[in-house]
Amino acid sequence: MPKALVILSGGQDSTTCLYWAKERYDDVVALTFNYNQRHIREIESAKTIAKMAGVSHEIIDMGPIFAGLSPLTDLKLSIDSYKSQEDLPGGLEKTFVPGRNILFLCVAGNRAYVTGCDDMIIGVSEEDFGGYPDCRAEFIEKMEEALASGLDKRIKVQTPLVHLSKRKTVELAQSLKGCMEALAFTTTCYNGDMPPCGHCHSCLLRQKGFDEAGVADPLLAKGLQDAR
Ligand code: ZN
Repeated sequence: MPKALVILSGGQDSTTCLYWAKERYDDVVALTFNYNQRHIREIESAKTIAKMAGVSHEIIDMGPIFAGLSPLTDLKLSIDSYKSQEDLPGGLEKTFVPGRNILFLCVAGNRAYVTGCDDMIIGVSEEDFGGYPDCRAEFIEKMEEALASGLDKRIKVQTPLVHLSKRKTVELAQSLKGCMEALAFTTTCYNGDMPPCGHCHSCLLRQKGFDEAGVADPLLAKGLQDAR
């Protein structure tokens, strides 16, 4: 397979996608968006991981383009905290950022076109994103169609994690060379804490996946090490 662009947030899922892509494509490039997210530490994670993976990396600064409504983009709003995985509410997560993946895929479509990529990879997952509508396969398929029409060139949008549980995502990461090492440098926590807060929606989902896979999370080991 020739060339692919990976949308790399600096979190667990996009990092797994990056290493998935490295095993399948001759050439991989990474793209990160800075949208003034609360967990800005993600950007530093993305830089470190792209370097570890040995891929070229572009960061696009979008400014406060998604400001408001979500605590991820409005610092006045607080991130909900839960005691345990069982306490996580169903339905649409409060952290949903309307239009985020719509815009990300549009801009990524431009970068993929300009850099001669055949495919784009995005780490969306239907099971684990609290009902985020822009993380569903149906939406991705429609975006691919819209981009193919608007670009007059089909760039396949690959979603290796879309039907995987968090447990399966951890197991996939284990099978990819270098991926577990890179996961130690990811940022998942919505609060951007290091060590991670352990009580936000994102931390608890991550923990669930590692617990169910029976694997120690390399990020937690690193967090303890850093705290010493
Ligand atoms: Zn957290």
